[in-house]
Amino acid sequence: MMRSYEIKRISPAVNKTSQKIGPKILVNPYYGCEHQCLFCPANDGFLKRKAFDDFREKGVIRVVENIIDHVDNYILNNDYAKVIHLSPVSDPFQPVEAELQLSRQIIKHAADINMPVAICTKGSVPGELYPLIQKHPHSFVQISILTINEAKRKMLVRGSGASVEELLNEIEAMSDYGIRIIARIDPIFPYITDDMAEFEALVDELKKRKVRYIVSSVADVIEGALDRERGYLEAIQPGLSEKYTNLYTEKINGRLHANTEYRENIFSKLKEICESKGLEFGITWEPDINGNSINHKYSHQISNML
Ligand code: SF4
Repeated sequence: MMRSYEIKRISPAVNKTSQKIGPKILVNPYYGCEHQCLFCPANDGFLKRKAFDDFREKGVIRVVENIIDHVDNYILNNDYAKVIHLSPVSDPFQPVEAELQLSRQIIKHAADINMPVAICTKGSVPGELYPLIQKHPHSFVQISILTINEAKRKMLVRGSGASVEELLNEIEAMSDYGIRIIARIDPIFPYITDDMAEFEALVDELKKRKVRYIVSSVADVIEGALDRERGYLEAIQPGLSEKYTNLYTEKINGRLHANTEYRENIFSKLKEICESKGLEFGITWEPDINGNSINHKYSHQISNML
């Protein structure tokens, strides 16, 4: 898909580009994510925002040029703002960042005003940003590494994103620099990355690089996306589309989830593997069939950090 930008300066008073949730300031400089992961909730439209439809259908990335104004505006109006989250709905280090460097500006600004920053990425964080991230003791980076198997990673992160080797090197370099890392093996894709031997091999590599925290989930699917991706699933593995239809039977809050039995079985195994190696394990928000969280069964302290 050809990509283009639509760059906007938006008044902080009216824009929803950044939001606050309790002490977190959620900052999204880019709308649309070039990594194009399979079943990406943002690109698939869970926010119901035209910007993401435009990315999916036309390849247009919306860019908020004056993002620092928004960060300052929220801090000014909310005494309890404690941490800048970069970026909840699209990757802050997707290829567009190399050209526009808005994520870099945000990290620099956080360091200047002595506010911790929490980064989540499947891309490469430039080494020159490490001192800025490390400056605040409560800053941390979540590196999303879906699998140890590079062929599978490329199948799932279809547009861009760092390779498995690059991500592991990045984790090692940040750990050595004293930056707190959470590894997100997240989400697990049923019948693709739910191989426990591969999961365990990845956990071993992460542990060697001083990772202490692992977070996971099982992919959920925005309505309509499964039909859109049937051909892609079949290309990965004949019959996979039907397996997904049979597994994704729980519709909870407008999203399709793998059935609870499958998810709980996976989480139990992942937790057991991580804890047997002395690592802390947690899951992102995960509902049962009634929409109630099952996180307390699998996560402890780690959930408070995310
Ligand atoms: S990195 Fe995150 S936001 Fe970007 S395509 Fe993948 S799942 Fe979506």
